[in-house]
Amino acid sequence: CGIVGYIGNKDAKEILLHGLDTLEYRGYDSAGIYVMDDSQTGHLFKEKGRIAALRDKVDQSVAAFSGIGHTRWATHGAPSVDNAHPHQSNSGRFSIVHNGVIENFAEVRDAYLQDVELHSDTDTEIIVQLIAWFAESEELDTMDAFKKAIVALKGSYALALVDNENPDVIYAAKNKSPLLLGTGDGFNVICSDAMAMIRETNQFIELMDGEVATLSHEGIQIETLAGDVIDRAPYTAHLDA
Ligand code: GLU
Repeated sequence: CGIVGYIGNKDAKEILLHGLDTLEYRGYDSAGIYVMDDSQTGHLFKEKGRIAALRDKVDQSVAAFSGIGHTRWATHGAPSVDNAHPHQSNSGRFSIVHNGVIENFAEVRDAYLQDVELHSDTDTEIIVQLIAWFAESEELDTMDAFKKAIVALKGSYALALVDNENPDVIYAAKNKSPLLLGTGDGFNVICSDAMAMIRETNQFIELMDGEVATLSHEGIQIETLAGDVIDRAPYTAHLDA
């Protein structure tokens, strides 16, 4: 179980796949990536088994400069392509990767998602369907929908979220699961472990519980759930590339 994200100017597919390769030690039973091409169309690739199997499934002709990826160690739902991440809202608008366990997923499902058709057995799908529910039913913007979903969730999570309607941003948040933001010139990254992105950058910012981050090509912004802006300087990670 590990997550990665990249938004920048290089081939996101390869950076995500390489990052997932380095995270396989955290556990793997399936893996997936969601990447956005330069015409802002999203492409989802998922496969059971090792990252090598996912790599064979990825359409190398897609030119992608941003995306998110996941290697799964199942806690809710058997290892399968349907249960592999990224998970998507029914409209296809939102895609998410998640490490951890949502303890109250059944309560959240019963409170908000009675009328929403679900497509996996995971606790994770509840998160992305809930974000979509807040965005669409309550007409919240993505940041507010994301925050409202986080407040409703109990458990552990590291999350990276993509919204097709805001393709120049990746959203991230965490609680009790590790998540680092990496920064570089013209690109920014997300990873569970600095090793996953050390080929791209050695400058990392630790995201803390109760904070939400947005990453674009140009920069990283961190704020608390209450909306207070956090200014945290990166540290230099010393790892062999
Ligand atoms: N609980 C989630 C699932 O079973 C995430 C597991 C993980 O951290 O890989 O899909």
